[in-house]
Amino acid sequence: MELLVVGSGAAYPDRPGTASSTYVVTHGGERICLDLGQGGFAGLAGRFEPSALLAVVVSHLHPDHFIDLVALRHYLRYEFDPPRRVRVVAPAGLAGRLDALLAEPGFAAASLDAEARAEGVIQVGPFMLESRLVTHTDESYAVRISLAAEPASPGLVYSGDCGRADDLAPLVRPGDTLLIEVAFGAGPVPVGDLHLDGPAVGALAAATAPARVLLTHLQMGRDPAATMAAVQARYPGPVELVADGDAFAA
Ligand SMILES: [Zn+2]
Ligand SMILES: [Zn+2]
Repeated sequence: MELLVVGSGAAYPDRPGTASSTYVVTHGGERICLDLGQGGFAGLAGRFEPSALLAVVVSHLHPDHFIDLVALRHYLRYEFDPPRRVRVVAPAGLAGRLDALLAEPGFAAASLDAEARAEGVIQVGPFMLESRLVTHTDESYAVRISLAAEPASPGLVYSGDCGRADDLAPLVRPGDTLLIEVAFGAGPVPVGDLHLDGPAVGALAAATAPARVLLTHLQMGRDPAATMAAVQARYPGPVELVADGDAFAA
């Protein structure tokens, strides 16, 4: 599998050119997209044919994780005759959110095949996706992705947004790549904010032994070096803060 970071930003990135929460996993020319935040669509369309995505898998219904489904929907509807369609696996209510934004009932359904996400395992093309609820919104998921043909091989765990690191522990197997939000940098996380910080990520990684930790979703104004140090103080393996355009074998 290959992981491409299309968008690494949080709710309001301040690094010019940074998109939010958009990650593509590829194997054998087949692709899924994990989240599609603001600016993410251009990062897809500039690299490959978005209509060929096997699915867009949405972690939760905060706009920095799904709002560019509007751009994808327009693209599928207006670039092709007949319009093309893409499967979207998302928490309940996604289509209603998109329809309300446009004040247009049926807007999403015109080109997006939305299906309800749930805990458990589904297969999408060559990928096995194990979803697990995490503490964030009423319905937020983390996911572990592995290859159906190689179930014993290392996987990729993506946290989505997560307010409790322990929620992720059942998904992470030794040797996996852990792509994890670190919204509050070196910490601490303000009381009531359901996100992670470096100490929480480091402790989780120390307990679950991924092969490496890829940090993402760092909020504006948080210091990258201090964030890395907070993780590395607890976890001895490789740690990286990802940026848009980074690619990894996973
Ligand atoms: Zn977010
Ligand atoms: Zn969120």
